[in-house]
Amino acid sequence: MEETKTRKASELEQIARAIEDDGVTPHLRATATQLVFGAGNSDAEVVFIGEAPGKNEDLQGAPFVGAAGKFLNEMLAGIGMERADIYITNIVKYRPPDNRDPTPEEIAEFIPYLKRQLGVIQPKLVVFLGRHSMSVFLPELRISQAHGQPVRKDGQVYLPLFHPAAALYNGGMRQTLIDDFNLIPAILKKIS
Ligand code: URA
Repeated sequence: MEETKTRKASELEQIARAIEDDGVTPHLRATATQLVFGAGNSDAEVVFIGEAPGKNEDLQGAPFVGAAGKFLNEMLAGIGMERADIYITNIVKYRPPDNRDPTPEEIAEFIPYLKRQLGVIQPKLVVFLGRHSMSVFLPELRISQAHGQPVRKDGQVYLPLFHPAAALYNGGMRQTLIDDFNLIPAILKKIS
């Protein structure tokens, strides 16, 4: 187990280096402080995928460390998990300037690296935080209808959720996200 974790961690490091060596989205790299590749357990059963780093993430070099991350940590605690149990990343791994949405072209450049990340970790469940990451894997779905419903596609189980930053200050959406999030343990149990 420990050996698998170490091997996976070093394979993930190689992917992070490849993003830099391959010169992915040079315009974003030029304005960002650093690459925000991903964090957590490289042998996790659950991988969460957000959109792109914000200001705090850009400064600290880790995903979901601001307000949305705090909310995420609370929801994890609610299902008896913590950040060390999961792996978390974004599709786009450099902060877009002024927190604008990533463009389809920027997303497309990062997709091969995101898929390699998942290939190394081999999680049981991939959780999308918001419509951007969902659209990469399940482009035919709408988040307003698909949230909270696990989907199996090509041997992988996915769970679309509302983005915690969008739900944070919206009472109805916030409770829906919490309710959807609380389905994770039962979904994992069913996959095992
Ligand atoms: N929102 C995201 O999508 N990702 C982060 O890392 C932080 C906020």
